[in-house]
Amino acid sequence: MKRHISNLIVFIFALTTCFSQDSKISTPKIEAEIDRIISEMTLAEKVGQTCQITLDVLLLRDSTGKTIEPLQIDPIKLKEAIMDYKIGSVLNVSWHTLTLKDWSRILKQIHEPFEKKLSKTPILYGIDAIHGVNYTVNGTLFPQEIGLAATWNKDLAYQFGEVVAYETRATGIHWNFSPVLDLGRQPLWSRNFETLGEDPFLASKMGSEIIKGYQGNGTLDAFHVAACMKHFVGYSNPTSGRDRTPAWIPEKYMQELYLPTFKSAVENGALTVMVNSGAVNGIPGHANEHLLTEVLKQQWGFQGFAVSDWEDFIMLHTVHSTASSKKEGIIQAINAGLDMSMVPLAPQYQEYCNLLKEAIEEGRISIERIDDAVRRILRVKLISGLYEKNMGNAKKYPKFGSDEHRELALHSALESITLLKNEKNVLPLNKNQKILISGPTSNNLIYLNGAWTHTWQGADTAFNTKHCYSIKEGLENFVGKEKVSFSQGATLFLDQGYEATRLSDTKDFEAKAKDADVIVLCLGEYPSTEKLGDIRSLNLNTEQTELVNIAHATGKPIVLIILEGRPRIIRDAEKMADAIVQAYLPGDFGSEAIVKLLYGEANFSGKLPFSYPKYDGQIEFYDHPKSVSRNKSDDFNAYNPQWDFGYGLSYSKFEYTDLQLSQKEISAQDSILISVQITNTSDRDGQEVVQLYIADEIASTIPTGKSLKGFEKIMLKAGETKNVTFVIKTKDLKFSNEHGEWIIEPGKFQVQIKDLVASFYYN
Ligand code: BGC
Repeated sequence: MKRHISNLIVFIFALTTCFSQDSKISTPKIEAEIDRIISEMTLAEKVGQTCQITLDVLLLRDSTGKTIEPLQIDPIKLKEAIMDYKIGSVLNVSWHTLTLKDWSRILKQIHEPFEKKLSKTPILYGIDAIHGVNYTVNGTLFPQEIGLAATWNKDLAYQFGEVVAYETRATGIHWNFSPVLDLGRQPLWSRNFETLGEDPFLASKMGSEIIKGYQGNGTLDAFHVAACMKHFVGYSNPTSGRDRTPAWIPEKYMQELYLPTFKSAVENGALTVMVNSGAVNGIPGHANEHLLTEVLKQQWGFQGFAVSDWEDFIMLHTVHSTASSKKEGIIQAINAGLDMSMVPLAPQYQEYCNLLKEAIEEGRISIERIDDAVRRILRVKLISGLYEKNMGNAKKYPKFGSDEHRELALHSALESITLLKNEKNVLPLNKNQKILISGPTSNNLIYLNGAWTHTWQGADTAFNTKHCYSIKEGLENFVGKEKVSFSQGATLFLDQGYEATRLSDTKDFEAKAKDADVIVLCLGEYPSTEKLGDIRSLNLNTEQTELVNIAHATGKPIVLIILEGRPRIIRDAEKMADAIVQAYLPGDFGSEAIVKLLYGEANFSGKLPFSYPKYDGQIEFYDHPKSVSRNKSDDFNAYNPQWDFGYGLSYSKFEYTDLQLSQKEISAQDSILISVQITNTSDRDGQEVVQLYIADEIASTIPTGKSLKGFEKIMLKAGETKNVTFVIKTKDLKFSNEHGEWIIEPGKFQVQIKDLVASFYYN
């Protein structure tokens, strides 16, 4: 009975939120237009709208099955997909990066049936423009999301979104499968670099800014695209560490950690969502009616549509075993609340359309559910201007790949790269020093970009952006070739599908080291994502540590540059290094940024968006409950990271003083002002990220030791002092109890900014 009543409440709530006129994303005019379009659609047309295929399916091939170069659309396949099966969406491109001209030609052909009135509904084309338009030649490539998070700069996140949207529209595409809002809480996971780090507050703020940048903060004009929140929800936390394997997430953690980024994105008008390919608490993402329909659509009032991930209706049958056939998989997913299916191959898409139509005719899926799915898809098509003739005209986008955009990408890299160690002031380097540069990631641009760069896995060097450089080339350009010697040191490669490192000619390395003043060693990971990025251990490959050993034996100062998407354990290497620079995957301008920072032409201001583990058997997060680190002695302390969340050095020195609270007690309606004074006590201008943490002292479910509740990145000139004030409302102090309800309990709260602490009471 209780369940029945709560369902009723949810239903009434849904009616008032789903169709409310003050919707963030729709208007009464758009809704009326959708009514008209739907009333004229046949069942086959409705079914087709929910079907998404990959561009591959439409390409012309030679007699051996290979695509013709440059890529061509096959008119027979196009007719079958668009006119016969009436599909609603096309995605991506296979193992290619196309020029603007090629994109324009291909997209014109895809949109032709609609423009010639041979089909009633335009195709919504979607692409993974993950860190820039990575499938378009000369698109501006930014740091990957984990690097963007390390800037802790909300304005930069917004501007990144704007530039990516602009260049995606220049390509002729209206829909971006980005940002990833999954929380990076499983460092083994191959897609850690696609996340905004481990903290829900940081990731929500940065993620929402990216979405506003993509979608133009409410007005989706010719320079903006529909965003896609990925991957709803819990995908990033596979217990095994392997991609697309099950996660087990208690309701408390679901509420406090995994849902907030998505909720905040919905509040900021995100138009689409992609569903988690894995399973959470035994239920596959695509079959989870509670999350997809009750939480996302009904409780939060999400009005856009939910697209599946790759082949997921099939996987409900073949991988997750919750459906006894593909047809049952379709029924499960659509009834759970899925609106569009990334089918995306042939002949599966024809089969999908036939099976879905059959299921509706048999009454296994209601016509209301299909109408709802189609309504949501049409809403996004109308909002994103697809019905207007606007299929990309590169001339309207003079800023595509412009200096202005490239400057912003460089600036983002500069603000993200994080200085983790600098002993004996080995940094900044000076231009008179002779440098030996070495290491597996030192001499190719692919290591700066990672996956989703020109190809899915990003390891094909053939597409590297012209006039963008590896770290070695960047160094040579900056200080002159005569000051730089190079020895490969070690090489990364794939050994039966797993990343491995092989030492190169170490004699060459040792000989060149003799003549060097400083050794710059570039370590890290092989570009990869998804299943292909699975690893068996978080430890850095032993051969890379061995290279650091060899360097250490020379007695020369060592600067480590780490290019990686997940925090590989570097405990042993760390001890031997004098300076350590975490570059994440900084993008096409990463080398320029690294060199400027190494030589002090720019100042470091990046901060870790994750806790960097020291031991692979001790993975904990900064906001662990107090019991995790109850004994501060090393042996009993389970939170013992190499570097803490939020950590990062600068060439400047900052002093924090005068932590003030506006009151000592607050009640339900109040908010509290927390201010602090920061002084740059050094003679170098620099940026600092002021981080506010709050801890609930006693609570009915174990409280976190501290949680991030505010941050602000500020610029301080040498000697300058500034005040920063945060406003904390009582809703910011709530936590989720074991039933997933958000509550606040009376008691003491501790405030921490840097090493300053204060407290207040909630009554
Ligand atoms: C990934 C998604 C991506 C989609 C389309 C899937 O395999 O999980 O993140 O958007 O492919 O490329």
